[in-house]
Amino acid sequence: MPYWTDSHCHLQDALLGDSETLIEAMKSVGITTAVVNATGEEDWAAVEDLAKRYHGLVLPAFGIHPWQAHTASPGWQARLRCLLETYPHASVGECGLDLWVDEPSLEIQRGVFRDQLELASALARPVTIHCLKAWVALFEVFAESPPPSRFLMHSYGGSIEIARRLIPLGAYFSFSGHFLHPRKAAVLEVFRQLPRDRILLETDAPSMLPPAEFLRYPGPCNHPANLPAIGEALASALGMSAEDLATMTRENSQRFLA
Ligand SMILES: [Zn+2]
Repeated sequence: MPYWTDSHCHLQDALLGDSETLIEAMKSVGITTAVVNATGEEDWAAVEDLAKRYHGLVLPAFGIHPWQAHTASPGWQARLRCLLETYPHASVGECGLDLWVDEPSLEIQRGVFRDQLELASALARPVTIHCLKAWVALFEVFAESPPPSRFLMHSYGGSIEIARRLIPLGAYFSFSGHFLHPRKAAVLEVFRQLPRDRILLETDAPSMLPPAEFLRYPGPCNHPANLPAIGEALASALGMSAEDLATMTRENSQRFLA
């Protein structure tokens, strides 16, 4: 059985239920590593708790999601720095920009994102970026606050042209099962053209539900143990065996997080 690495998920989310059951289900399908991303100050403690309880399997990422940018309370930057210093293997995430939503405003999102990029660069930590319909703004932010040497564009749904601008800056790209919907076939085509050493795999559980035929655990939310089925589908699209894809994405993830 291949050993799988989930490069982006939210196991702390209450929708997924009890963590003991969740982790057992993940182990039973061969998942050995999961990067659990916080979304805002209110779930930092829950991510910290998972990282302690499932040390070795859960790798924590602490940050503020663009949808939560308006909830950042005064002094959050110092608290985030303190958390990252307490966990030397933690990365920064999830952060970024999202113009698919109207609120919070781009201005608020940009300020919170920039501070997280600067903190990641100062501490030399990799960062996980959420970017939806905000590519122009992303490059504007990068011009003022360059990203650290390695960053992950998670659930990447951008074009190959944008990817080619991001690769020299240190970008990795993770594929999520939502893009297995036939109407999203263009995303698979982009992944066929990406350098293989920059491709990662994720569930984004409980979000980014794959089409029904890839669900090993019934909805309504995306269970993290759906990862192998997503990996098998990406492997077949890339003309690789599932074992080789699992190994490739594990090694790429280790290089990204090193
Ligand atoms: Zn996410």
